[in-house]
Amino acid sequence: MKTLLKLLGAALLIITLSFTNSKNKTVVIDVSHGGHDHGQKEHSITEKEIALQVAQKLQELSQNSSVEIILTRDSDMFVSLKDRVAFINKQKPHYVISLHTNGYKDESTSGYKLFYGDGDYHEASKKLASTLSESLDIAIQSRGIKQAGFYLLKNAACPSVFLEMGFLSNPEDRDYLTSESGQTAIAIAIFKSLEQL
Ligand SMILES: [Zn+2]
Repeated sequence: MKTLLKLLGAALLIITLSFTNSKNKTVVIDVSHGGHDHGQKEHSITEKEIALQVAQKLQELSQNSSVEIILTRDSDMFVSLKDRVAFINKQKPHYVISLHTNGYKDESTSGYKLFYGDGDYHEASKKLASTLSESLDIAIQSRGIKQAGFYLLKNAACPSVFLEMGFLSNPEDRDYLTSESGQTAIAIAIFKSLEQL
């Protein structure tokens, strides 16, 4: 009996180790805003909640995959920009994707947009943005890829991008971004490109 238990223990250890080892890529999903900082707000829909919902779907998708997904927040709490970057760099991730939504006074403006920084990881970040853009075969149209001087993009110690998933001020984008199917489609598209990288 004891030998059997020992064997079972060894088998469990091997299984655990093989699962641990199977994660060969770490990606931090920066869940933007949170707490008192709700980001964009349109018709009581907030950027902070959309970002969290898509991020949690991404984390679900990563289970039993080779990609480890770490979120900068997994509840409605405020994390300062400085603390986010410190947290991100502590994880030593391979990539960072910061999730946002957009808003504009003209409600006909729609589409998702990707930004990369101008820091040390400029080229790799640009490549990350274009890989993501190729995968984002979703109902929201692309507004292209642009360089930006955002603090997080400048200070993350790895390739990083901002993804503005769509305009909460545009009725079609908003419907998509708040729907279970739209959020799932965005999460799947992002996850597919992370697996490819
Ligand atoms: Zn934002």
